[in-house]
Amino acid sequence: MRDSFGREISYLRLSVTDRCDFRCFYCLPRDYRGFATPEHWLSPSEIKCLISVFAGLGIRHVRLTGGEPLVRKELLEITQRIGEVAGIEEISLSTNASRLRQQASELRKMGVSRLNISLDSLDPSTFEKITGGNLSKVLNGIQAAVDVGFHPLKLNMVVMRGINDHEVEKMVDFCMDQGLTLRFIETMPVGRNGIEANRHFIPLREIETRLRQRYSLQPAAMRGSGPARYFQVGGTGLVIGFITPQSQHFCDTCNRVRLSVEGDLHLCLGKENRISLRDMLREGASGDAIAEAIIAGVRLKPERHSFDQPETHVLRPMSALGG
Ligand code: SAM
Ligand code: SF4
Repeated sequence: MRDSFGREISYLRLSVTDRCDFRCFYCLPRDYRGFATPEHWLSPSEIKCLISVFAGLGIRHVRLTGGEPLVRKELLEITQRIGEVAGIEEISLSTNASRLRQQASELRKMGVSRLNISLDSLDPSTFEKITGGNLSKVLNGIQAAVDVGFHPLKLNMVVMRGINDHEVEKMVDFCMDQGLTLRFIETMPVGRNGIEANRHFIPLREIETRLRQRYSLQPAAMRGSGPARYFQVGGTGLVIGFITPQSQHFCDTCNRVRLSVEGDLHLCLGKENRISLRDMLREGASGDAIAEAIIAGVRLKPERHSFDQPETHVLRPMSALGG
């Protein structure tokens, strides 16, 4: 399946919930009330149905995301059902890891092969200020993921000036010690909180320059469908990645679409255009009709986001689509 700019779409990010046990200040407003109601959530069997159609169109990798996917009670069943779909070669998951200690082993057994974990600070008080959550639970979750054999395990750090940028080197040391991959992410002006947090934006070139004063960084290849530029930190086993949606956007290689918990197909994180697949499914549309709607939707995929144009910023929080 190709969009009108010739990009092949093989990756689906599936939000299994828009709820979360954290309130990261760049993502989910503390007073947010716009959550989807349970009757609008795609059920595990509806998810399997839609994923089968996507697989028929060439989707090979599904990433489970949220909100926080581990708060969805049916997560294991959803994972299992996606694993049954012919053509899906990989299931990965993004999590804040607060509930990972209890679920890491089952997720692995159900076929999740790769995990990305968000970790913005190693200081309990800064961590609490950024996320509203508890650092030690997250560290326990990371340890559990290592113990059950998730490898490589990627940590994602949103770097923000004046908030956590002083912790970059500490995070490098931590990942080196633990054998984890570290990815730095630029803030994105998505949702009310993302727009506000973008005042702390740092172009990651600054962080790269700072790290080069301490380490030699050699370009490295890394398996995965992501947009990060990776480097091997000289003389160590550590790989670090830079994800630069603002300072060096990577829209020309975008291979993904997104499906919300309500079954809306979104063509771009930074745009509003979407189509409801749930309504079609619940009205009894055939697999072929849904496939046609997806193909027509993919043709409308925008060429690039417009984070540099404040008047077009989307107000849906990042938690609604999972980044
Ligand atoms: N709850 C899971 C987690 O935190 O990993 C999955 C969903 S979360 C929305 C996915 C990713 O989006 C996380 O790595 C998070 O840090 C990132 N994110 C959320 N809001 C962001 C923003 N405004 N700018 C940049 N990254 C953001
Ligand atoms: Fe929750 Fe993830 Fe958003 Fe933080 S970034 S509020 S953990 S969905």
